[in-house]
Amino acid sequence: MNRQVLVIAELREGKLRQVSLESIAAARLLAGEAGTVFAFVSGADKEQLAAELLASGADRVFSAGNDQSTRTDTESVFRTVTRLITRLQPSAVILGHTAFGKDIAPRLAARMNAGQISDVIAIEQCGDTFSFTRPIYAGKAFEKRRFRQEPWVVTIRPNNFQPSDDHATNSVQPLDSSSFEAIEPEQPDLRTVVKHIVKRATGKTDLSEAKIIVSGGRGVRNADGFKPLAELADSLGGAVGASRGACDAGYCDYSMQIGQTGKVVTPELYIACGISGAIQHVAGMSGSRVIVAINKDPEAPIFKIADYGLVGDLFDIVPLLTEEFKRL
Ligand code: FAD
Repeated sequence: MNRQVLVIAELREGKLRQVSLESIAAARLLAGEAGTVFAFVSGADKEQLAAELLASGADRVFSAGNDQSTRTDTESVFRTVTRLITRLQPSAVILGHTAFGKDIAPRLAARMNAGQISDVIAIEQCGDTFSFTRPIYAGKAFEKRRFRQEPWVVTIRPNNFQPSDDHATNSVQPLDSSSFEAIEPEQPDLRTVVKHIVKRATGKTDLSEAKIIVSGGRGVRNADGFKPLAELADSLGGAVGASRGACDAGYCDYSMQIGQTGKVVTPELYIACGISGAIQHVAGMSGSRVIVAINKDPEAPIFKIADYGLVGDLFDIVPLLTEEFKRL
């Protein structure tokens, strides 16, 4: 079983997203020991990006970088990758289950006449093939799927596969023609163009990649109620999230919403403060490794899924936790 697997890497602000390194780890599994992992990246800093992808386990990197490509131009990426796929004929293509991946993957699957399994959280080998686990019914159950035939298109949920640590050293490996190839990007004649992207000035860790999340619900009472949560998150190097209840009440921005209609997160630690634990919220955070709930209602449903529960007022408990963590 030696497959050729292609990973479509994704950038944020010119840097590789963690989920792309996780996709390489997943691709290595599918490729098998003697298989080949190709990676495609579209970014300005071609050599550095290629070196990081190689250090994470890719065998060969194709880069269609140009100065424009730091933008989220999925149409150009889709067309460039389609050309590459025609040339490489990979058995499988892997992308992150992100807005970028969700945009490109189905188009690629249709173009390749391939099956697609999305939002994969685990991959198990079954003889010559693999079984792919994905959450269904908003995280209430898990299903295992298999492809009946190749090629495969797979999107993986962030924070579920362990990337190789080597890329962290950021050592720029010498690139040669066997490991790196610059290819021409397709420049489709689009009817709309992205002129510029206005970024929210949060400066905070991206929720979908955060290892620690402190989340607030309607129990925080108002926008100021998020301040102690932000201090706790800062002391832990984490990000701040929210329930839809808090967003709907105007306490915070919708970009912070976690849940069925918000972001799906899988951090190592999720601290839910003043969140009741409605099914739609749980759908977005139940994959967290350790869940801590702080709620003054001992009957709150969030305690059913929490590993640790603290019954009490979040405005008493959260500052105490911050003080303790700062001491560490
Ligand atoms: P509440 O349910 O009002 O809970 C507030 C909690 O705070 C209570 O448990 C209370 O005991 C506690 N509390 C109050 N004061 C304190 C204090 N001082 N200290 C400690 N605890 C305190 N919700 C999401 O979160 N994400 C989604 O993506 C989402 N999508 C939805 C999609 C649909 C189609 C629908 C119908 C709903 C969706 N919802 C979503 C809404 C969801 O059903 C809940 O209404 C929402 O999650 C409730 O938010 P909450 O827990 O902050 O508020």
